[in-house]
Amino acid sequence: MPRDLPEVTILGAGVVGLTTAVRLAESGVTVAVHAAEPPLQTTSLAAGAVWGPHLVGPHDRVEHWAAQTLSTLHELIAAGHPFVRLVDGVAFSRLAETAPPEFAAGASNLSACPAEELPDGYLTGWRLTAPLVTMPQYLSWLHERYRSAGGRAIRLIRYPTLADASRAAATRVMVNCTGCGANELVPDPEVTPVRGQAVVVANPGITRFFVGFGPGGDLTYCFPHGDRVVLGGTEQPGDWNREPDPRLAKQIIANCSVIEPALEGAAVLEHRVGLRPVRPQVRLEAVRAPDGVTVVHNYGHGGAGVTLSWGCATEAAELVQAALR
Ligand SMILES: Cc1cc2nc3c(=O)[nH]c(=O)nc-3n(C[C@H](O)[C@H](O)[C@H](O)COP(=O)(O)OP(=O)(O)OC[C@H]3O[C@@H](n4cnc5c(N)ncnc54)[C@H](O)[C@@H]3O)c2cc1C
Repeated sequence: MPRDLPEVTILGAGVVGLTTAVRLAESGVTVAVHAAEPPLQTTSLAAGAVWGPHLVGPHDRVEHWAAQTLSTLHELIAAGHPFVRLVDGVAFSRLAETAPPEFAAGASNLSACPAEELPDGYLTGWRLTAPLVTMPQYLSWLHERYRSAGGRAIRLIRYPTLADASRAAATRVMVNCTGCGANELVPDPEVTPVRGQAVVVANPGITRFFVGFGPGGDLTYCFPHGDRVVLGGTEQPGDWNREPDPRLAKQIIANCSVIEPALEGAAVLEHRVGLRPVRPQVRLEAVRAPDGVTVVHNYGHGGAGVTLSWGCATEAAELVQAALR
């Protein structure tokens, strides 16, 4: 391999691509990242982002990846990084469920909410403590960490097919972390978008998060990040539209204000839209392409890309190392 060519090219600069890039660059591999959008324009930016599996296929490996990520997030908290904190919150449900929602199941300090604390229309609730990640800062930090480990500057380019990417990258191994982009790039019709819209408002003093679930993708949440709060949300299957819808934004603020009246009238600072890459199962495997290049696929993390990121990155890096050997 000539010295000026990297050994591995990662496609995608969202949380999955950057975390995989960090893992590989820190293991001594020379890494390039090619991506259609830079980190702060990806779906990953739109994440709330709380640790906890959600909208991710029933996969025996999900639990393991989530646990590995949780352990890394705890290390980052212990190291004092300001973009990840353990935050107390509540998960409400409009359904008369006896078990906590999927995303809360592995969280700490889990206890049932007394009935008098349930907002109107919600039948059950669970108090919990979970890591909350501030995505703009976190993505920037991942990017810097990758660069500090010797990673090349991100090349902004959208590839129509994997074969095009392979020709341009000219590396023996590629890692495909393109999220919903894999639908066209691979192509893989199994990965489809579940659109999510969020509104960022000035924080009127909220310190705890809440998530409210209902039937048919009914989702309302509020995640405090210092002087800002991320409010959501929507779950719109099959919708590729990345433009914020002002009517939905109003609805989101109204829904959140029912649970937390202090949010009514809070100044709107930003709108975010992301496409959750939902697939029956996360695709994490190495495949030999017809041109002889090994492609390690790492996509389809649904509503849990942050939650699974470190576990999946570690496994993807192992597959890359095996291919390089
Ligand atoms: C509103 C919302 C809230 C969420 N909340 C949470 C949460 O609280 N916790 C959690 O764990 N998860 C959450 N998620 C899910 C999480 O955001 C996703 O699972 C995660 O961002 C997926 O990351 P990714 O890196 O795979 O994809 P992306 O962030 O979409 O990045 C994909 C990258 O690939 C590039 N790319 C795509 N196609 C091509 C191509 N053809 N050529 C070159 N590059 C290409 C893109 O430009 C981009 O750089 C949420 C998602 C949304 C939308």
